[in-house]
Amino acid sequence: METLIPVINKLQEIFNTVGAEVIQLPQIVVIGAQSSGKSSVLESIVGRDFLPRGSGIVTRRPLVLLLVNVPFLEERQHAASGETTLAQREVPLGPWSVSQGLLCLPVPSQTFTDFSEIQQEIETETERTTGTNKGISPEPLYLKIYSPHVLNLTLVDLPGITKGPVGDQPPDIEGQVLEMILSYVSNPNCLILVVTAADTDVATSEALKLARDVDPDGCRTLSVVTKLDLMDAGTDAMDVLMGRVIPVKLGIIGVVNRSQHDIKTWKSITESLQDEQAFLQKQYPLLANRNGTRHLAKTLNRLLMHHIRNCLPELKTRVNVLTAQYQSVLQSYGQPIEDKNAMLLQIITKFATEYCHTIEGTAWNIETSELCRGARMGYIFQETLGRTLESIDPLAGLTMLDILIAIRNATGPRPALFMPEVSFELLVKRQIKRLEDPSLRCVQLALQLLVHIIQHCSTYNTQELLRFPKLHEAIVEVVTGILRQRLPITNEMVHNLVAIELAYINTKHPDFMDTALVSASVSTRKPMPATWKLSQQEQWDCEVIRRLIISYFLIVRKRIQDSVLKTIMHFLVNYVKDYLQSQLVGQLYKQELLDMLLTESEDMAQQRKEAAGLLQALQRASQTISEIRETQLW
Ligand code: GDP
Ligand code: MG
Repeated sequence: METLIPVINKLQEIFNTVGAEVIQLPQIVVIGAQSSGKSSVLESIVGRDFLPRGSGIVTRRPLVLLLVNVPFLEERQHAASGETTLAQREVPLGPWSVSQGLLCLPVPSQTFTDFSEIQQEIETETERTTGTNKGISPEPLYLKIYSPHVLNLTLVDLPGITKGPVGDQPPDIEGQVLEMILSYVSNPNCLILVVTAADTDVATSEALKLARDVDPDGCRTLSVVTKLDLMDAGTDAMDVLMGRVIPVKLGIIGVVNRSQHDIKTWKSITESLQDEQAFLQKQYPLLANRNGTRHLAKTLNRLLMHHIRNCLPELKTRVNVLTAQYQSVLQSYGQPIEDKNAMLLQIITKFATEYCHTIEGTAWNIETSELCRGARMGYIFQETLGRTLESIDPLAGLTMLDILIAIRNATGPRPALFMPEVSFELLVKRQIKRLEDPSLRCVQLALQLLVHIIQHCSTYNTQELLRFPKLHEAIVEVVTGILRQRLPITNEMVHNLVAIELAYINTKHPDFMDTALVSASVSTRKPMPATWKLSQQEQWDCEVIRRLIISYFLIVRKRIQDSVLKTIMHFLVNYVKDYLQSQLVGQLYKQELLDMLLTESEDMAQQRKEAAGLLQALQRASQTISEIRETQLW
């Protein structure tokens, strides 16, 4: 078994790397008639005396041996006494399934370093659950064995198949045992060791029949013939071992275990192996190298290796997929910085370019506050400005009474002889003033959009900014700084645009309806409340002024719409576009800031390190897999 240990350990390392399920080595289950030598065979596989053996029904509960490979050092820590191999009985013996994995067992309550103690413990524990009446119990007994000399493997020792109850055994004992055996051997990931004693009739072996039922193809059944030394004089097991009695695909291996006498006289395993070899050489010289405990162990090794090799292609695929994944992850984290100057300049330029590009080619979806590529910025403002300013009614907030009062104030007590231009000017200025607030709101809107673009650029386009959070902050600071700095001048200009309109009411504007034209067109007069006591003239004046205000206001509104848009573009948008790059470079591209700005985010640095480490491990794993494929066990 030890030949496979380095392979399994290497694989273990791969599993740790790729997080794959550990390859489940097949469980090895021994089945056979009572006293055929099952426990003895298992023991010789493990190479330790620790199972109760003897005549009659000794194994009365399934014994699950969990072999755990531990590096030598760790084992020393486990074994205070310094023994090289250590066993633990798992208590409580609650439900534990192999699928849970070998390493998630309940905390062991007892630790043994003396294997004869274990033997005693197994006996006591068996009697505790089954009583002394030779009854059996399906409740498995778990024994975990830590050693540098074992594979991570599960061996199961089962009670023997009996013919009818003995003593006060329950009448259905045969059925109980069969059911228990079936529950183990029907697991497709189980290797069945069918143990038959050579001094019994192999042809009628119940165990072989049972194995054939659950494994008709014979891919996981191995036959072991024990007690070759106990055959009647003049008979031999030649036919059986050659497979002439019952052929077994994976092989038939004859062994000689220690007899009850050997056990009583403390014959060592080493000695017994030597004697076995000598016996085989003498009795079966032609078959000696194909039989014996050593050959059995080698065969098991080969079967396990075969199983491992079958699992390798899938593992290899997994390693390859993960390698590709981590390669792209690593790429997305960016290359390690080589030249900080170049990198800083590159990031700044990239940001500035992206920002300007976004300004030129984005639409501002008012409803969803989302940026979408498409229209030019100017167009967006035209739309927005148009909507905001056009919604202002030329006569908003102006009643007929206001007009009348203005006329009366302007003309004084004397009856008017001509159209009171003074009152027109007064009133139209009031209306023009109303354009200022919405125009200033447009500036605000432009500013919001420009700020939003910063975010847009850093989220969608510049992976580097996630990597260098300090640089990100600094860039945002510079851009908002420029915007902040440009806001007053833009507002001032917009304010002036309205002020300019207020400065002079140009009634000679070619598009303005002149008084004469309006006067001529006013024929019908709106009925005024009688209480106002309007003269005919006053009524007519009111209507004329109303129409003049509308005409003049529309001219101004159109002009303001146009020039506010141009103001925003010139003072704010184009300025940012023209100076962003140079401002960013001027403020950030400084030797003393370099290290600070290019400090990588800790997360990112850590993640890159981890990804790089994993990638290396994966490459090692891939190498190991190829090595294992070529490993020759003999
Ligand atoms: P189990 O009931 O199938 O587990 O059989 P055990 O392993 O307990 O063995 C039953 C008895 O047969 C024990 O006394 C063993 O010492 C003895 N025994 C097992 N194998 C051999 C063998 O190959 N040769 C001899 N002489 N005795 C054996
Ligand atoms: Mg036994």
